[in-house]
Amino acid sequence: MRTGRQYWESLSDGRAVFLDGRRLEDVARHEAFQGIAQSIAAMFDAAAEPANGMTFSCRETGGDANKVFMIPRSHEDLVARHQAIATWANISKGFIGRSPDHVGGFLAGFASSPETFDDGHHAFGENVVRFYREFVSRSLFVTYVIIPTQADQSTASRGGMDERLQVRVRKEQERGIVVGGSQMLGTSTAVADYLFVSCIKPLSPQDEPYALSFVVPVNAQGMKIYCRRPYATAQPSRFDYPLSTRFDETDALVIFDDVSVPWENVFVYRNPELVRRQFFDTPAHVLGNSQAQIRLVAKMKFILGVARKIAQANNLEGVPSVQEKLGELASLAAVVEGMVLASEASCVTDRHGVVKPNPRFLYGAMGLQAELYPRALQVLRELAGGGVIQLPSSVRDFSSEETRGDMERYLKSAPLSAVHRVQLFKLAWDMIGSEFAGRHLQYEMFYAGAPFVARNYAFRNYGFEEVLGSVEGFLNSYSVDS
Ligand SMILES: Cc1cc2nc3c(=O)[nH]c(=O)nc-3n(C[C@H](O)[C@H](O)[C@H](O)COP(=O)(O)OP(=O)(O)OC[C@H]3O[C@@H](n4cnc5c(N)ncnc54)[C@H](O)[C@@H]3O)c2cc1C
Repeated sequence: MRTGRQYWESLSDGRAVFLDGRRLEDVARHEAFQGIAQSIAAMFDAAAEPANGMTFSCRETGGDANKVFMIPRSHEDLVARHQAIATWANISKGFIGRSPDHVGGFLAGFASSPETFDDGHHAFGENVVRFYREFVSRSLFVTYVIIPTQADQSTASRGGMDERLQVRVRKEQERGIVVGGSQMLGTSTAVADYLFVSCIKPLSPQDEPYALSFVVPVNAQGMKIYCRRPYATAQPSRFDYPLSTRFDETDALVIFDDVSVPWENVFVYRNPELVRRQFFDTPAHVLGNSQAQIRLVAKMKFILGVARKIAQANNLEGVPSVQEKLGELASLAAVVEGMVLASEASCVTDRHGVVKPNPRFLYGAMGLQAELYPRALQVLRELAGGGVIQLPSSVRDFSSEETRGDMERYLKSAPLSAVHRVQLFKLAWDMIGSEFAGRHLQYEMFYAGAPFVARNYAFRNYGFEEVLGSVEGFLNSYSVDS
């Protein structure tokens, strides 16, 4: 199993990551990425630690592998996969969205259904299986960009730009294809090994040049990663911003400046229909997004725990209206956990014998996420009050002789010393108010598509036959003559 150190060392590979107008020399040692790289390294170390029980014997490779990358073939497999994903999610308390298990779920789904990728012109199923084997045996970290930039929505036909910027094939060669263009929003790409590139938004039959799906190493010649402003830099300390400094995934615009992709890394080529089917005719979308929901359970529980501790810190636990707020938060956390458990308890088996979470409950949870997560933060915000603002400017107020006495006297509350109270409220601020917190709100609302898209998944996957049948039966049980 790959260790954290091996992962960390592999990041110094000449990848083109840009910040503030400059190409970085070494991502692993840059302040913006150290925290996230260390957290991902901790995940690999946790997987390599036998006591954590995260390995299984993988049918596809014949060797030991990380359970988070498993193609589940029984309910027991699903439960084992869930536990391994939860172990990883707990390392970041759910604040790393694109840990290697997210796209890992998509790759497992693709590899379970290789014939989907054989479209009569190309037999790319072999590529999908070969890459999955490599991915699993090397414990790779793959992220994805599967959305065109927003600018591309105003095409010439709608009076917008006359040039599309989305990744497209520019040249076909004997050894592979050359691609150019850009795509958003490569979360964690700067610290990953490979990038999966495709398009999950619907394409029309004329969009063949854009209808691609392939993997490419992050240090590929011609690939440029333009990160947004990082939240880990220029923070006074880990104590002041405990989440920003460790879990910032530095989302990025990824530009492909004539990047060569060998045929063996191509999964779909010039086929708009297949680009869509790869996600939804295989278990890929379900497996990838079930990881996201298991991660969300860890996050919701953490928010609930912080909320309860704040009520304790302010001596408000016994107040009925505070209990009511904590009860609402508990309900929200239980809904997400309950939906994940329900999706696994009522799992379904596909034509390849892959046992996947029941889409009714998985997408039911995703359809609620854009309201549920902001509501949870709102309740935490209400409970925290001004406590998240009335905080020392930095941890240095505790180390300075001149200020420490005042801090210790005026910032304590009955159950907590000043240091512990400030620590708790600074953590809460990093969940609800910092730039990192704002990005997380946007992430939970959009990572799987805009809210209307997530609810559309819930609509398509509910299985309306049952409820329509019930209504029909009831209506047929009486008439004007009854
Ligand atoms: C923090 C963060 C991290 C992300 N990480 C990744 C990543 O790693 N990889 C990746 O591929 N993508 C990533 N994404 C992108 C994400 O997948 C997209 O944001 C999402 O698919 C929505 O697309 P969009 O942003 O273009 O929004 P749009 O599609 O432009 O939607 C924005 C809003 O416009 C309105 N709207 C647009 N179209 C319609 C319509 N047809 N009907 C009704 N209303 C409409 C809705 O109000 C909608 O909420 C990330 C996004 C965020 C915020």
